[in-house]
Amino acid sequence: MNQEKLYSLPDLPYGYKDLGPYISEEQLRLHHQKHHQAYVNGANIIFEKLEKAKQDSTELDVKAIAKELSFQASGHLLHSLFWENLQPASQKKDELGKSLEEALNEEFGSMERFKKLFTQAAVSVEGSGWAILVYCQKTKRPIIVQAEKHNVNVIPAFSILMVLDVWEHAYYLDYKNERAKFIEALWQIINWETVTKRLEYLLN
Ligand code: FE
Repeated sequence: MNQEKLYSLPDLPYGYKDLGPYISEEQLRLHHQKHHQAYVNGANIIFEKLEKAKQDSTELDVKAIAKELSFQASGHLLHSLFWENLQPASQKKDELGKSLEEALNEEFGSMERFKKLFTQAAVSVEGSGWAILVYCQKTKRPIIVQAEKHNVNVIPAFSILMVLDVWEHAYYLDYKNERAKFIEALWQIINWETVTKRLEYLLN
């Protein structure tokens, strides 16, 4: 099948060692090369199944395929956004853009309050999932949402500004079962420039 019509694992925008001490090399490598890759593969297997069924004119269980694709493709796309949301602490500048700061202050009262609420959303995801900051272009509001797994409880058509992966596979080597410690560490390596750019793209 034409590779351009399949998903592929993106390279990280930094080295595997570079997010230390917040995320270890071993943890990051495993997360990217094994877990993220598995979603890329899972989604591509479905595309290949669809292609084969078209060639052979065989019946498809469209409902089951749609459900599986929602899980696998969301897993891949969220991880791709997540890697770009992080940056090595050594390269960190104060790059929180004015537009983002204003939007968060207006909606949440202050950056501290936004961080507190977003942390609560991340800590309290039931089972495996994500805390996600989205922007609603209809109401011009940044909104905090939670995704269980990769695709449950999400609101379609919201644009994603920032995601935090709180699946245990993201942190178990470094933090065992202590999700809150992992989230605290992530605040040290958020790439605010990326979050700002995503918002500005929507505003322009
Ligand atoms: Fe993950």
